[in-house]
Amino acid sequence: MTERLLVVGASLAGIRSVEAARRHGFEGDITMIGAEAHLPYDRPPLSKRYLTGESAADYYRTEDAIRDELRVDLRLGTCATALRADDHTVATTSGDVAYDRLIIATGAAPRTIPGVPALAGIVTLRTLDDADRLRESIRPGAHVVILGAGFIGSEIASSATHLGAEVTVIEAAPVPLVRAVGDVVGRALAGLHQRHGTRLLMDTRIVEYLGSDRIEAVRLSNGDVLRADVVVVGIGAAPATEWLRDSGIGLHPLDGGIICDEYLQSSLPGVYAAGDVAHWPNGALDLVMRLENWTNAADQAAQAGANAADPSHAERYETVPYFWSDWYGQRIQFVGTATAEAVEFASGSPDDSRFVALYRTGDRLVGAATLDERKKIMKLRRHIAERGLFSDAIRILEPATQPAHT
Ligand SMILES: Cc1cc2nc3c(=O)[nH]c(=O)nc-3n(C[C@H](O)[C@H](O)[C@H](O)COP(=O)(O)OP(=O)(O)OC[C@H]3O[C@@H](n4cnc5c(N)ncnc54)[C@H](O)[C@@H]3O)c2cc1C
Repeated sequence: MTERLLVVGASLAGIRSVEAARRHGFEGDITMIGAEAHLPYDRPPLSKRYLTGESAADYYRTEDAIRDELRVDLRLGTCATALRADDHTVATTSGDVAYDRLIIATGAAPRTIPGVPALAGIVTLRTLDDADRLRESIRPGAHVVILGAGFIGSEIASSATHLGAEVTVIEAAPVPLVRAVGDVVGRALAGLHQRHGTRLLMDTRIVEYLGSDRIEAVRLSNGDVLRADVVVVGIGAAPATEWLRDSGIGLHPLDGGIICDEYLQSSLPGVYAAGDVAHWPNGALDLVMRLENWTNAADQAAQAGANAADPSHAERYETVPYFWSDWYGQRIQFVGTATAEAVEFASGSPDDSRFVALYRTGDRLVGAATLDERKKIMKLRRHIAERGLFSDAIRILEPATQPAHT
C-alpha cells in the first residue's frame, strides 16, 4: 500500500520537510495543508524590505514545482482543526486527511494582549496579509507606536523610520531582548534606536487605548498620552497548537509547543514536529529549546523530513542556534546561547557601530553576538559546535597571517 506523509503548515518548515522527504527517497503520497492562501513564502522580509516597498513577496517555489516536481497534493487556505491519532487522521476545514506519518510545521502566531479593545489600527505582523495591511498605515509623518522592543518590533521601527514615520517603541522591561542576547548586548542594541531617531521608552506600558472605531492615541503608564495612527503589538509569538489540544500529543506546559525527542518525534509514534512549533533536546548545547528563527526552521525541518521518510535511519537533530536581524541598515547576528556567566567584547564596545561580543560559561565559548561584522559569526558558530575554549575564540577572530615570502 502506498504510504502517506501529511505535512501540516505550508511555510518554511513545511516546504523544507517535504523537500527532504523526497530527497531521502520517500516515494509515497505527500499532502501539505496550509491555513494561508499563499504559496510558502519567506517571512523575514515582511518587517524589512517588503514593508518598506523595496522588495516583492519571495516565494520558495512555484506552484508547479511543488505539485509536479515534489509531487505534493497542496491544499492552501485549509486549516487543520483536530488530530485523531488513534485512526491516523487530521480533521481540516475541508474534510479529513489520513496519514501514515505526520509532520507538524504550524509555526507560531503573534501573542495578543487580553482586554485590548477591537479598534482598527491595532495590528500584529506575522503574515504577508498582515504586512500588506501595515504597509498602508505607515506613511511619512504617520504616528506609529510599537509595543515591544523585540527583534520584529525593532525591525518594524527601523522600516517605519526609514519611511518617514514618527515612531515610538514602548517596552515594559528595563532592557530589551535580555532573553535573546543578554543584558549587555540588549542595552547596546537599544542604543541603535536612539542613534537613528526612534524614541524608545523602556520600563513603560500602555495602560489605555483611545479611539472610537480606530485607534487615535495611547495612554502610557507614565501618564503621557501619545498620538497613534497605528499600534503594532510585537510582544512575541506562541506555538500554533490550539488545534492539537485534545489530541493526546505531549505539549509544553508553559507555551503549548510540541515536545519532541532528539529525533524530532513527538510523544505520538510517527508524528514529528519542526520549526517554531517544536521543543527538542539540543545536544549541541545540552539544552531543551524551542527556537523561532529561520535557520533552525529550515534545518530542523530537513531533519524531520528525512527521519519521517526513513525512520529506521533516523538521525538526531543538533544545532548551534543562529539568527540575524536588520535594523537601520545594520546587521545583528547571534550564535549559541545568551545563557552565560560573562560577556566580553572581543572588538568594539556597546556604544560602537560594530562589535563582537563573546559569551563565556566556565572556560567554554557558548555564544557570540556581532553588529556589522558579517564574516566572523560563522567561525564562532563552528567553534561553539566544536565545544571550543573561550580563550581560543580571540585567535579565531584574528585574520590569518600570510606566510612570509622567501
Ligand atoms: C516578520 C518576521 C520577521 C522575521 N525575521 C527573521 C529574521 O530576520 N531572522 C530570522 O532568523 N528569523 C526571522 N523570523 C522568524 C522566521 O521567519 C520563522 O522562524 C520561520 O518562519 C518559522 O517557520 P515555520 O515554518 O516553523 O513557521 P511559520 O513560518 O510560522 O509557518 C507556519 C505555517 O503554518 C500555518 N498554520 C498554522 N496553524 C495551522 C493549522 N492549524 N492548519 C494549517 N496551517 C496552519 C500558518 O498559517 C503558517 O503559514 C521572522 C519572522 C517574522 C514573522
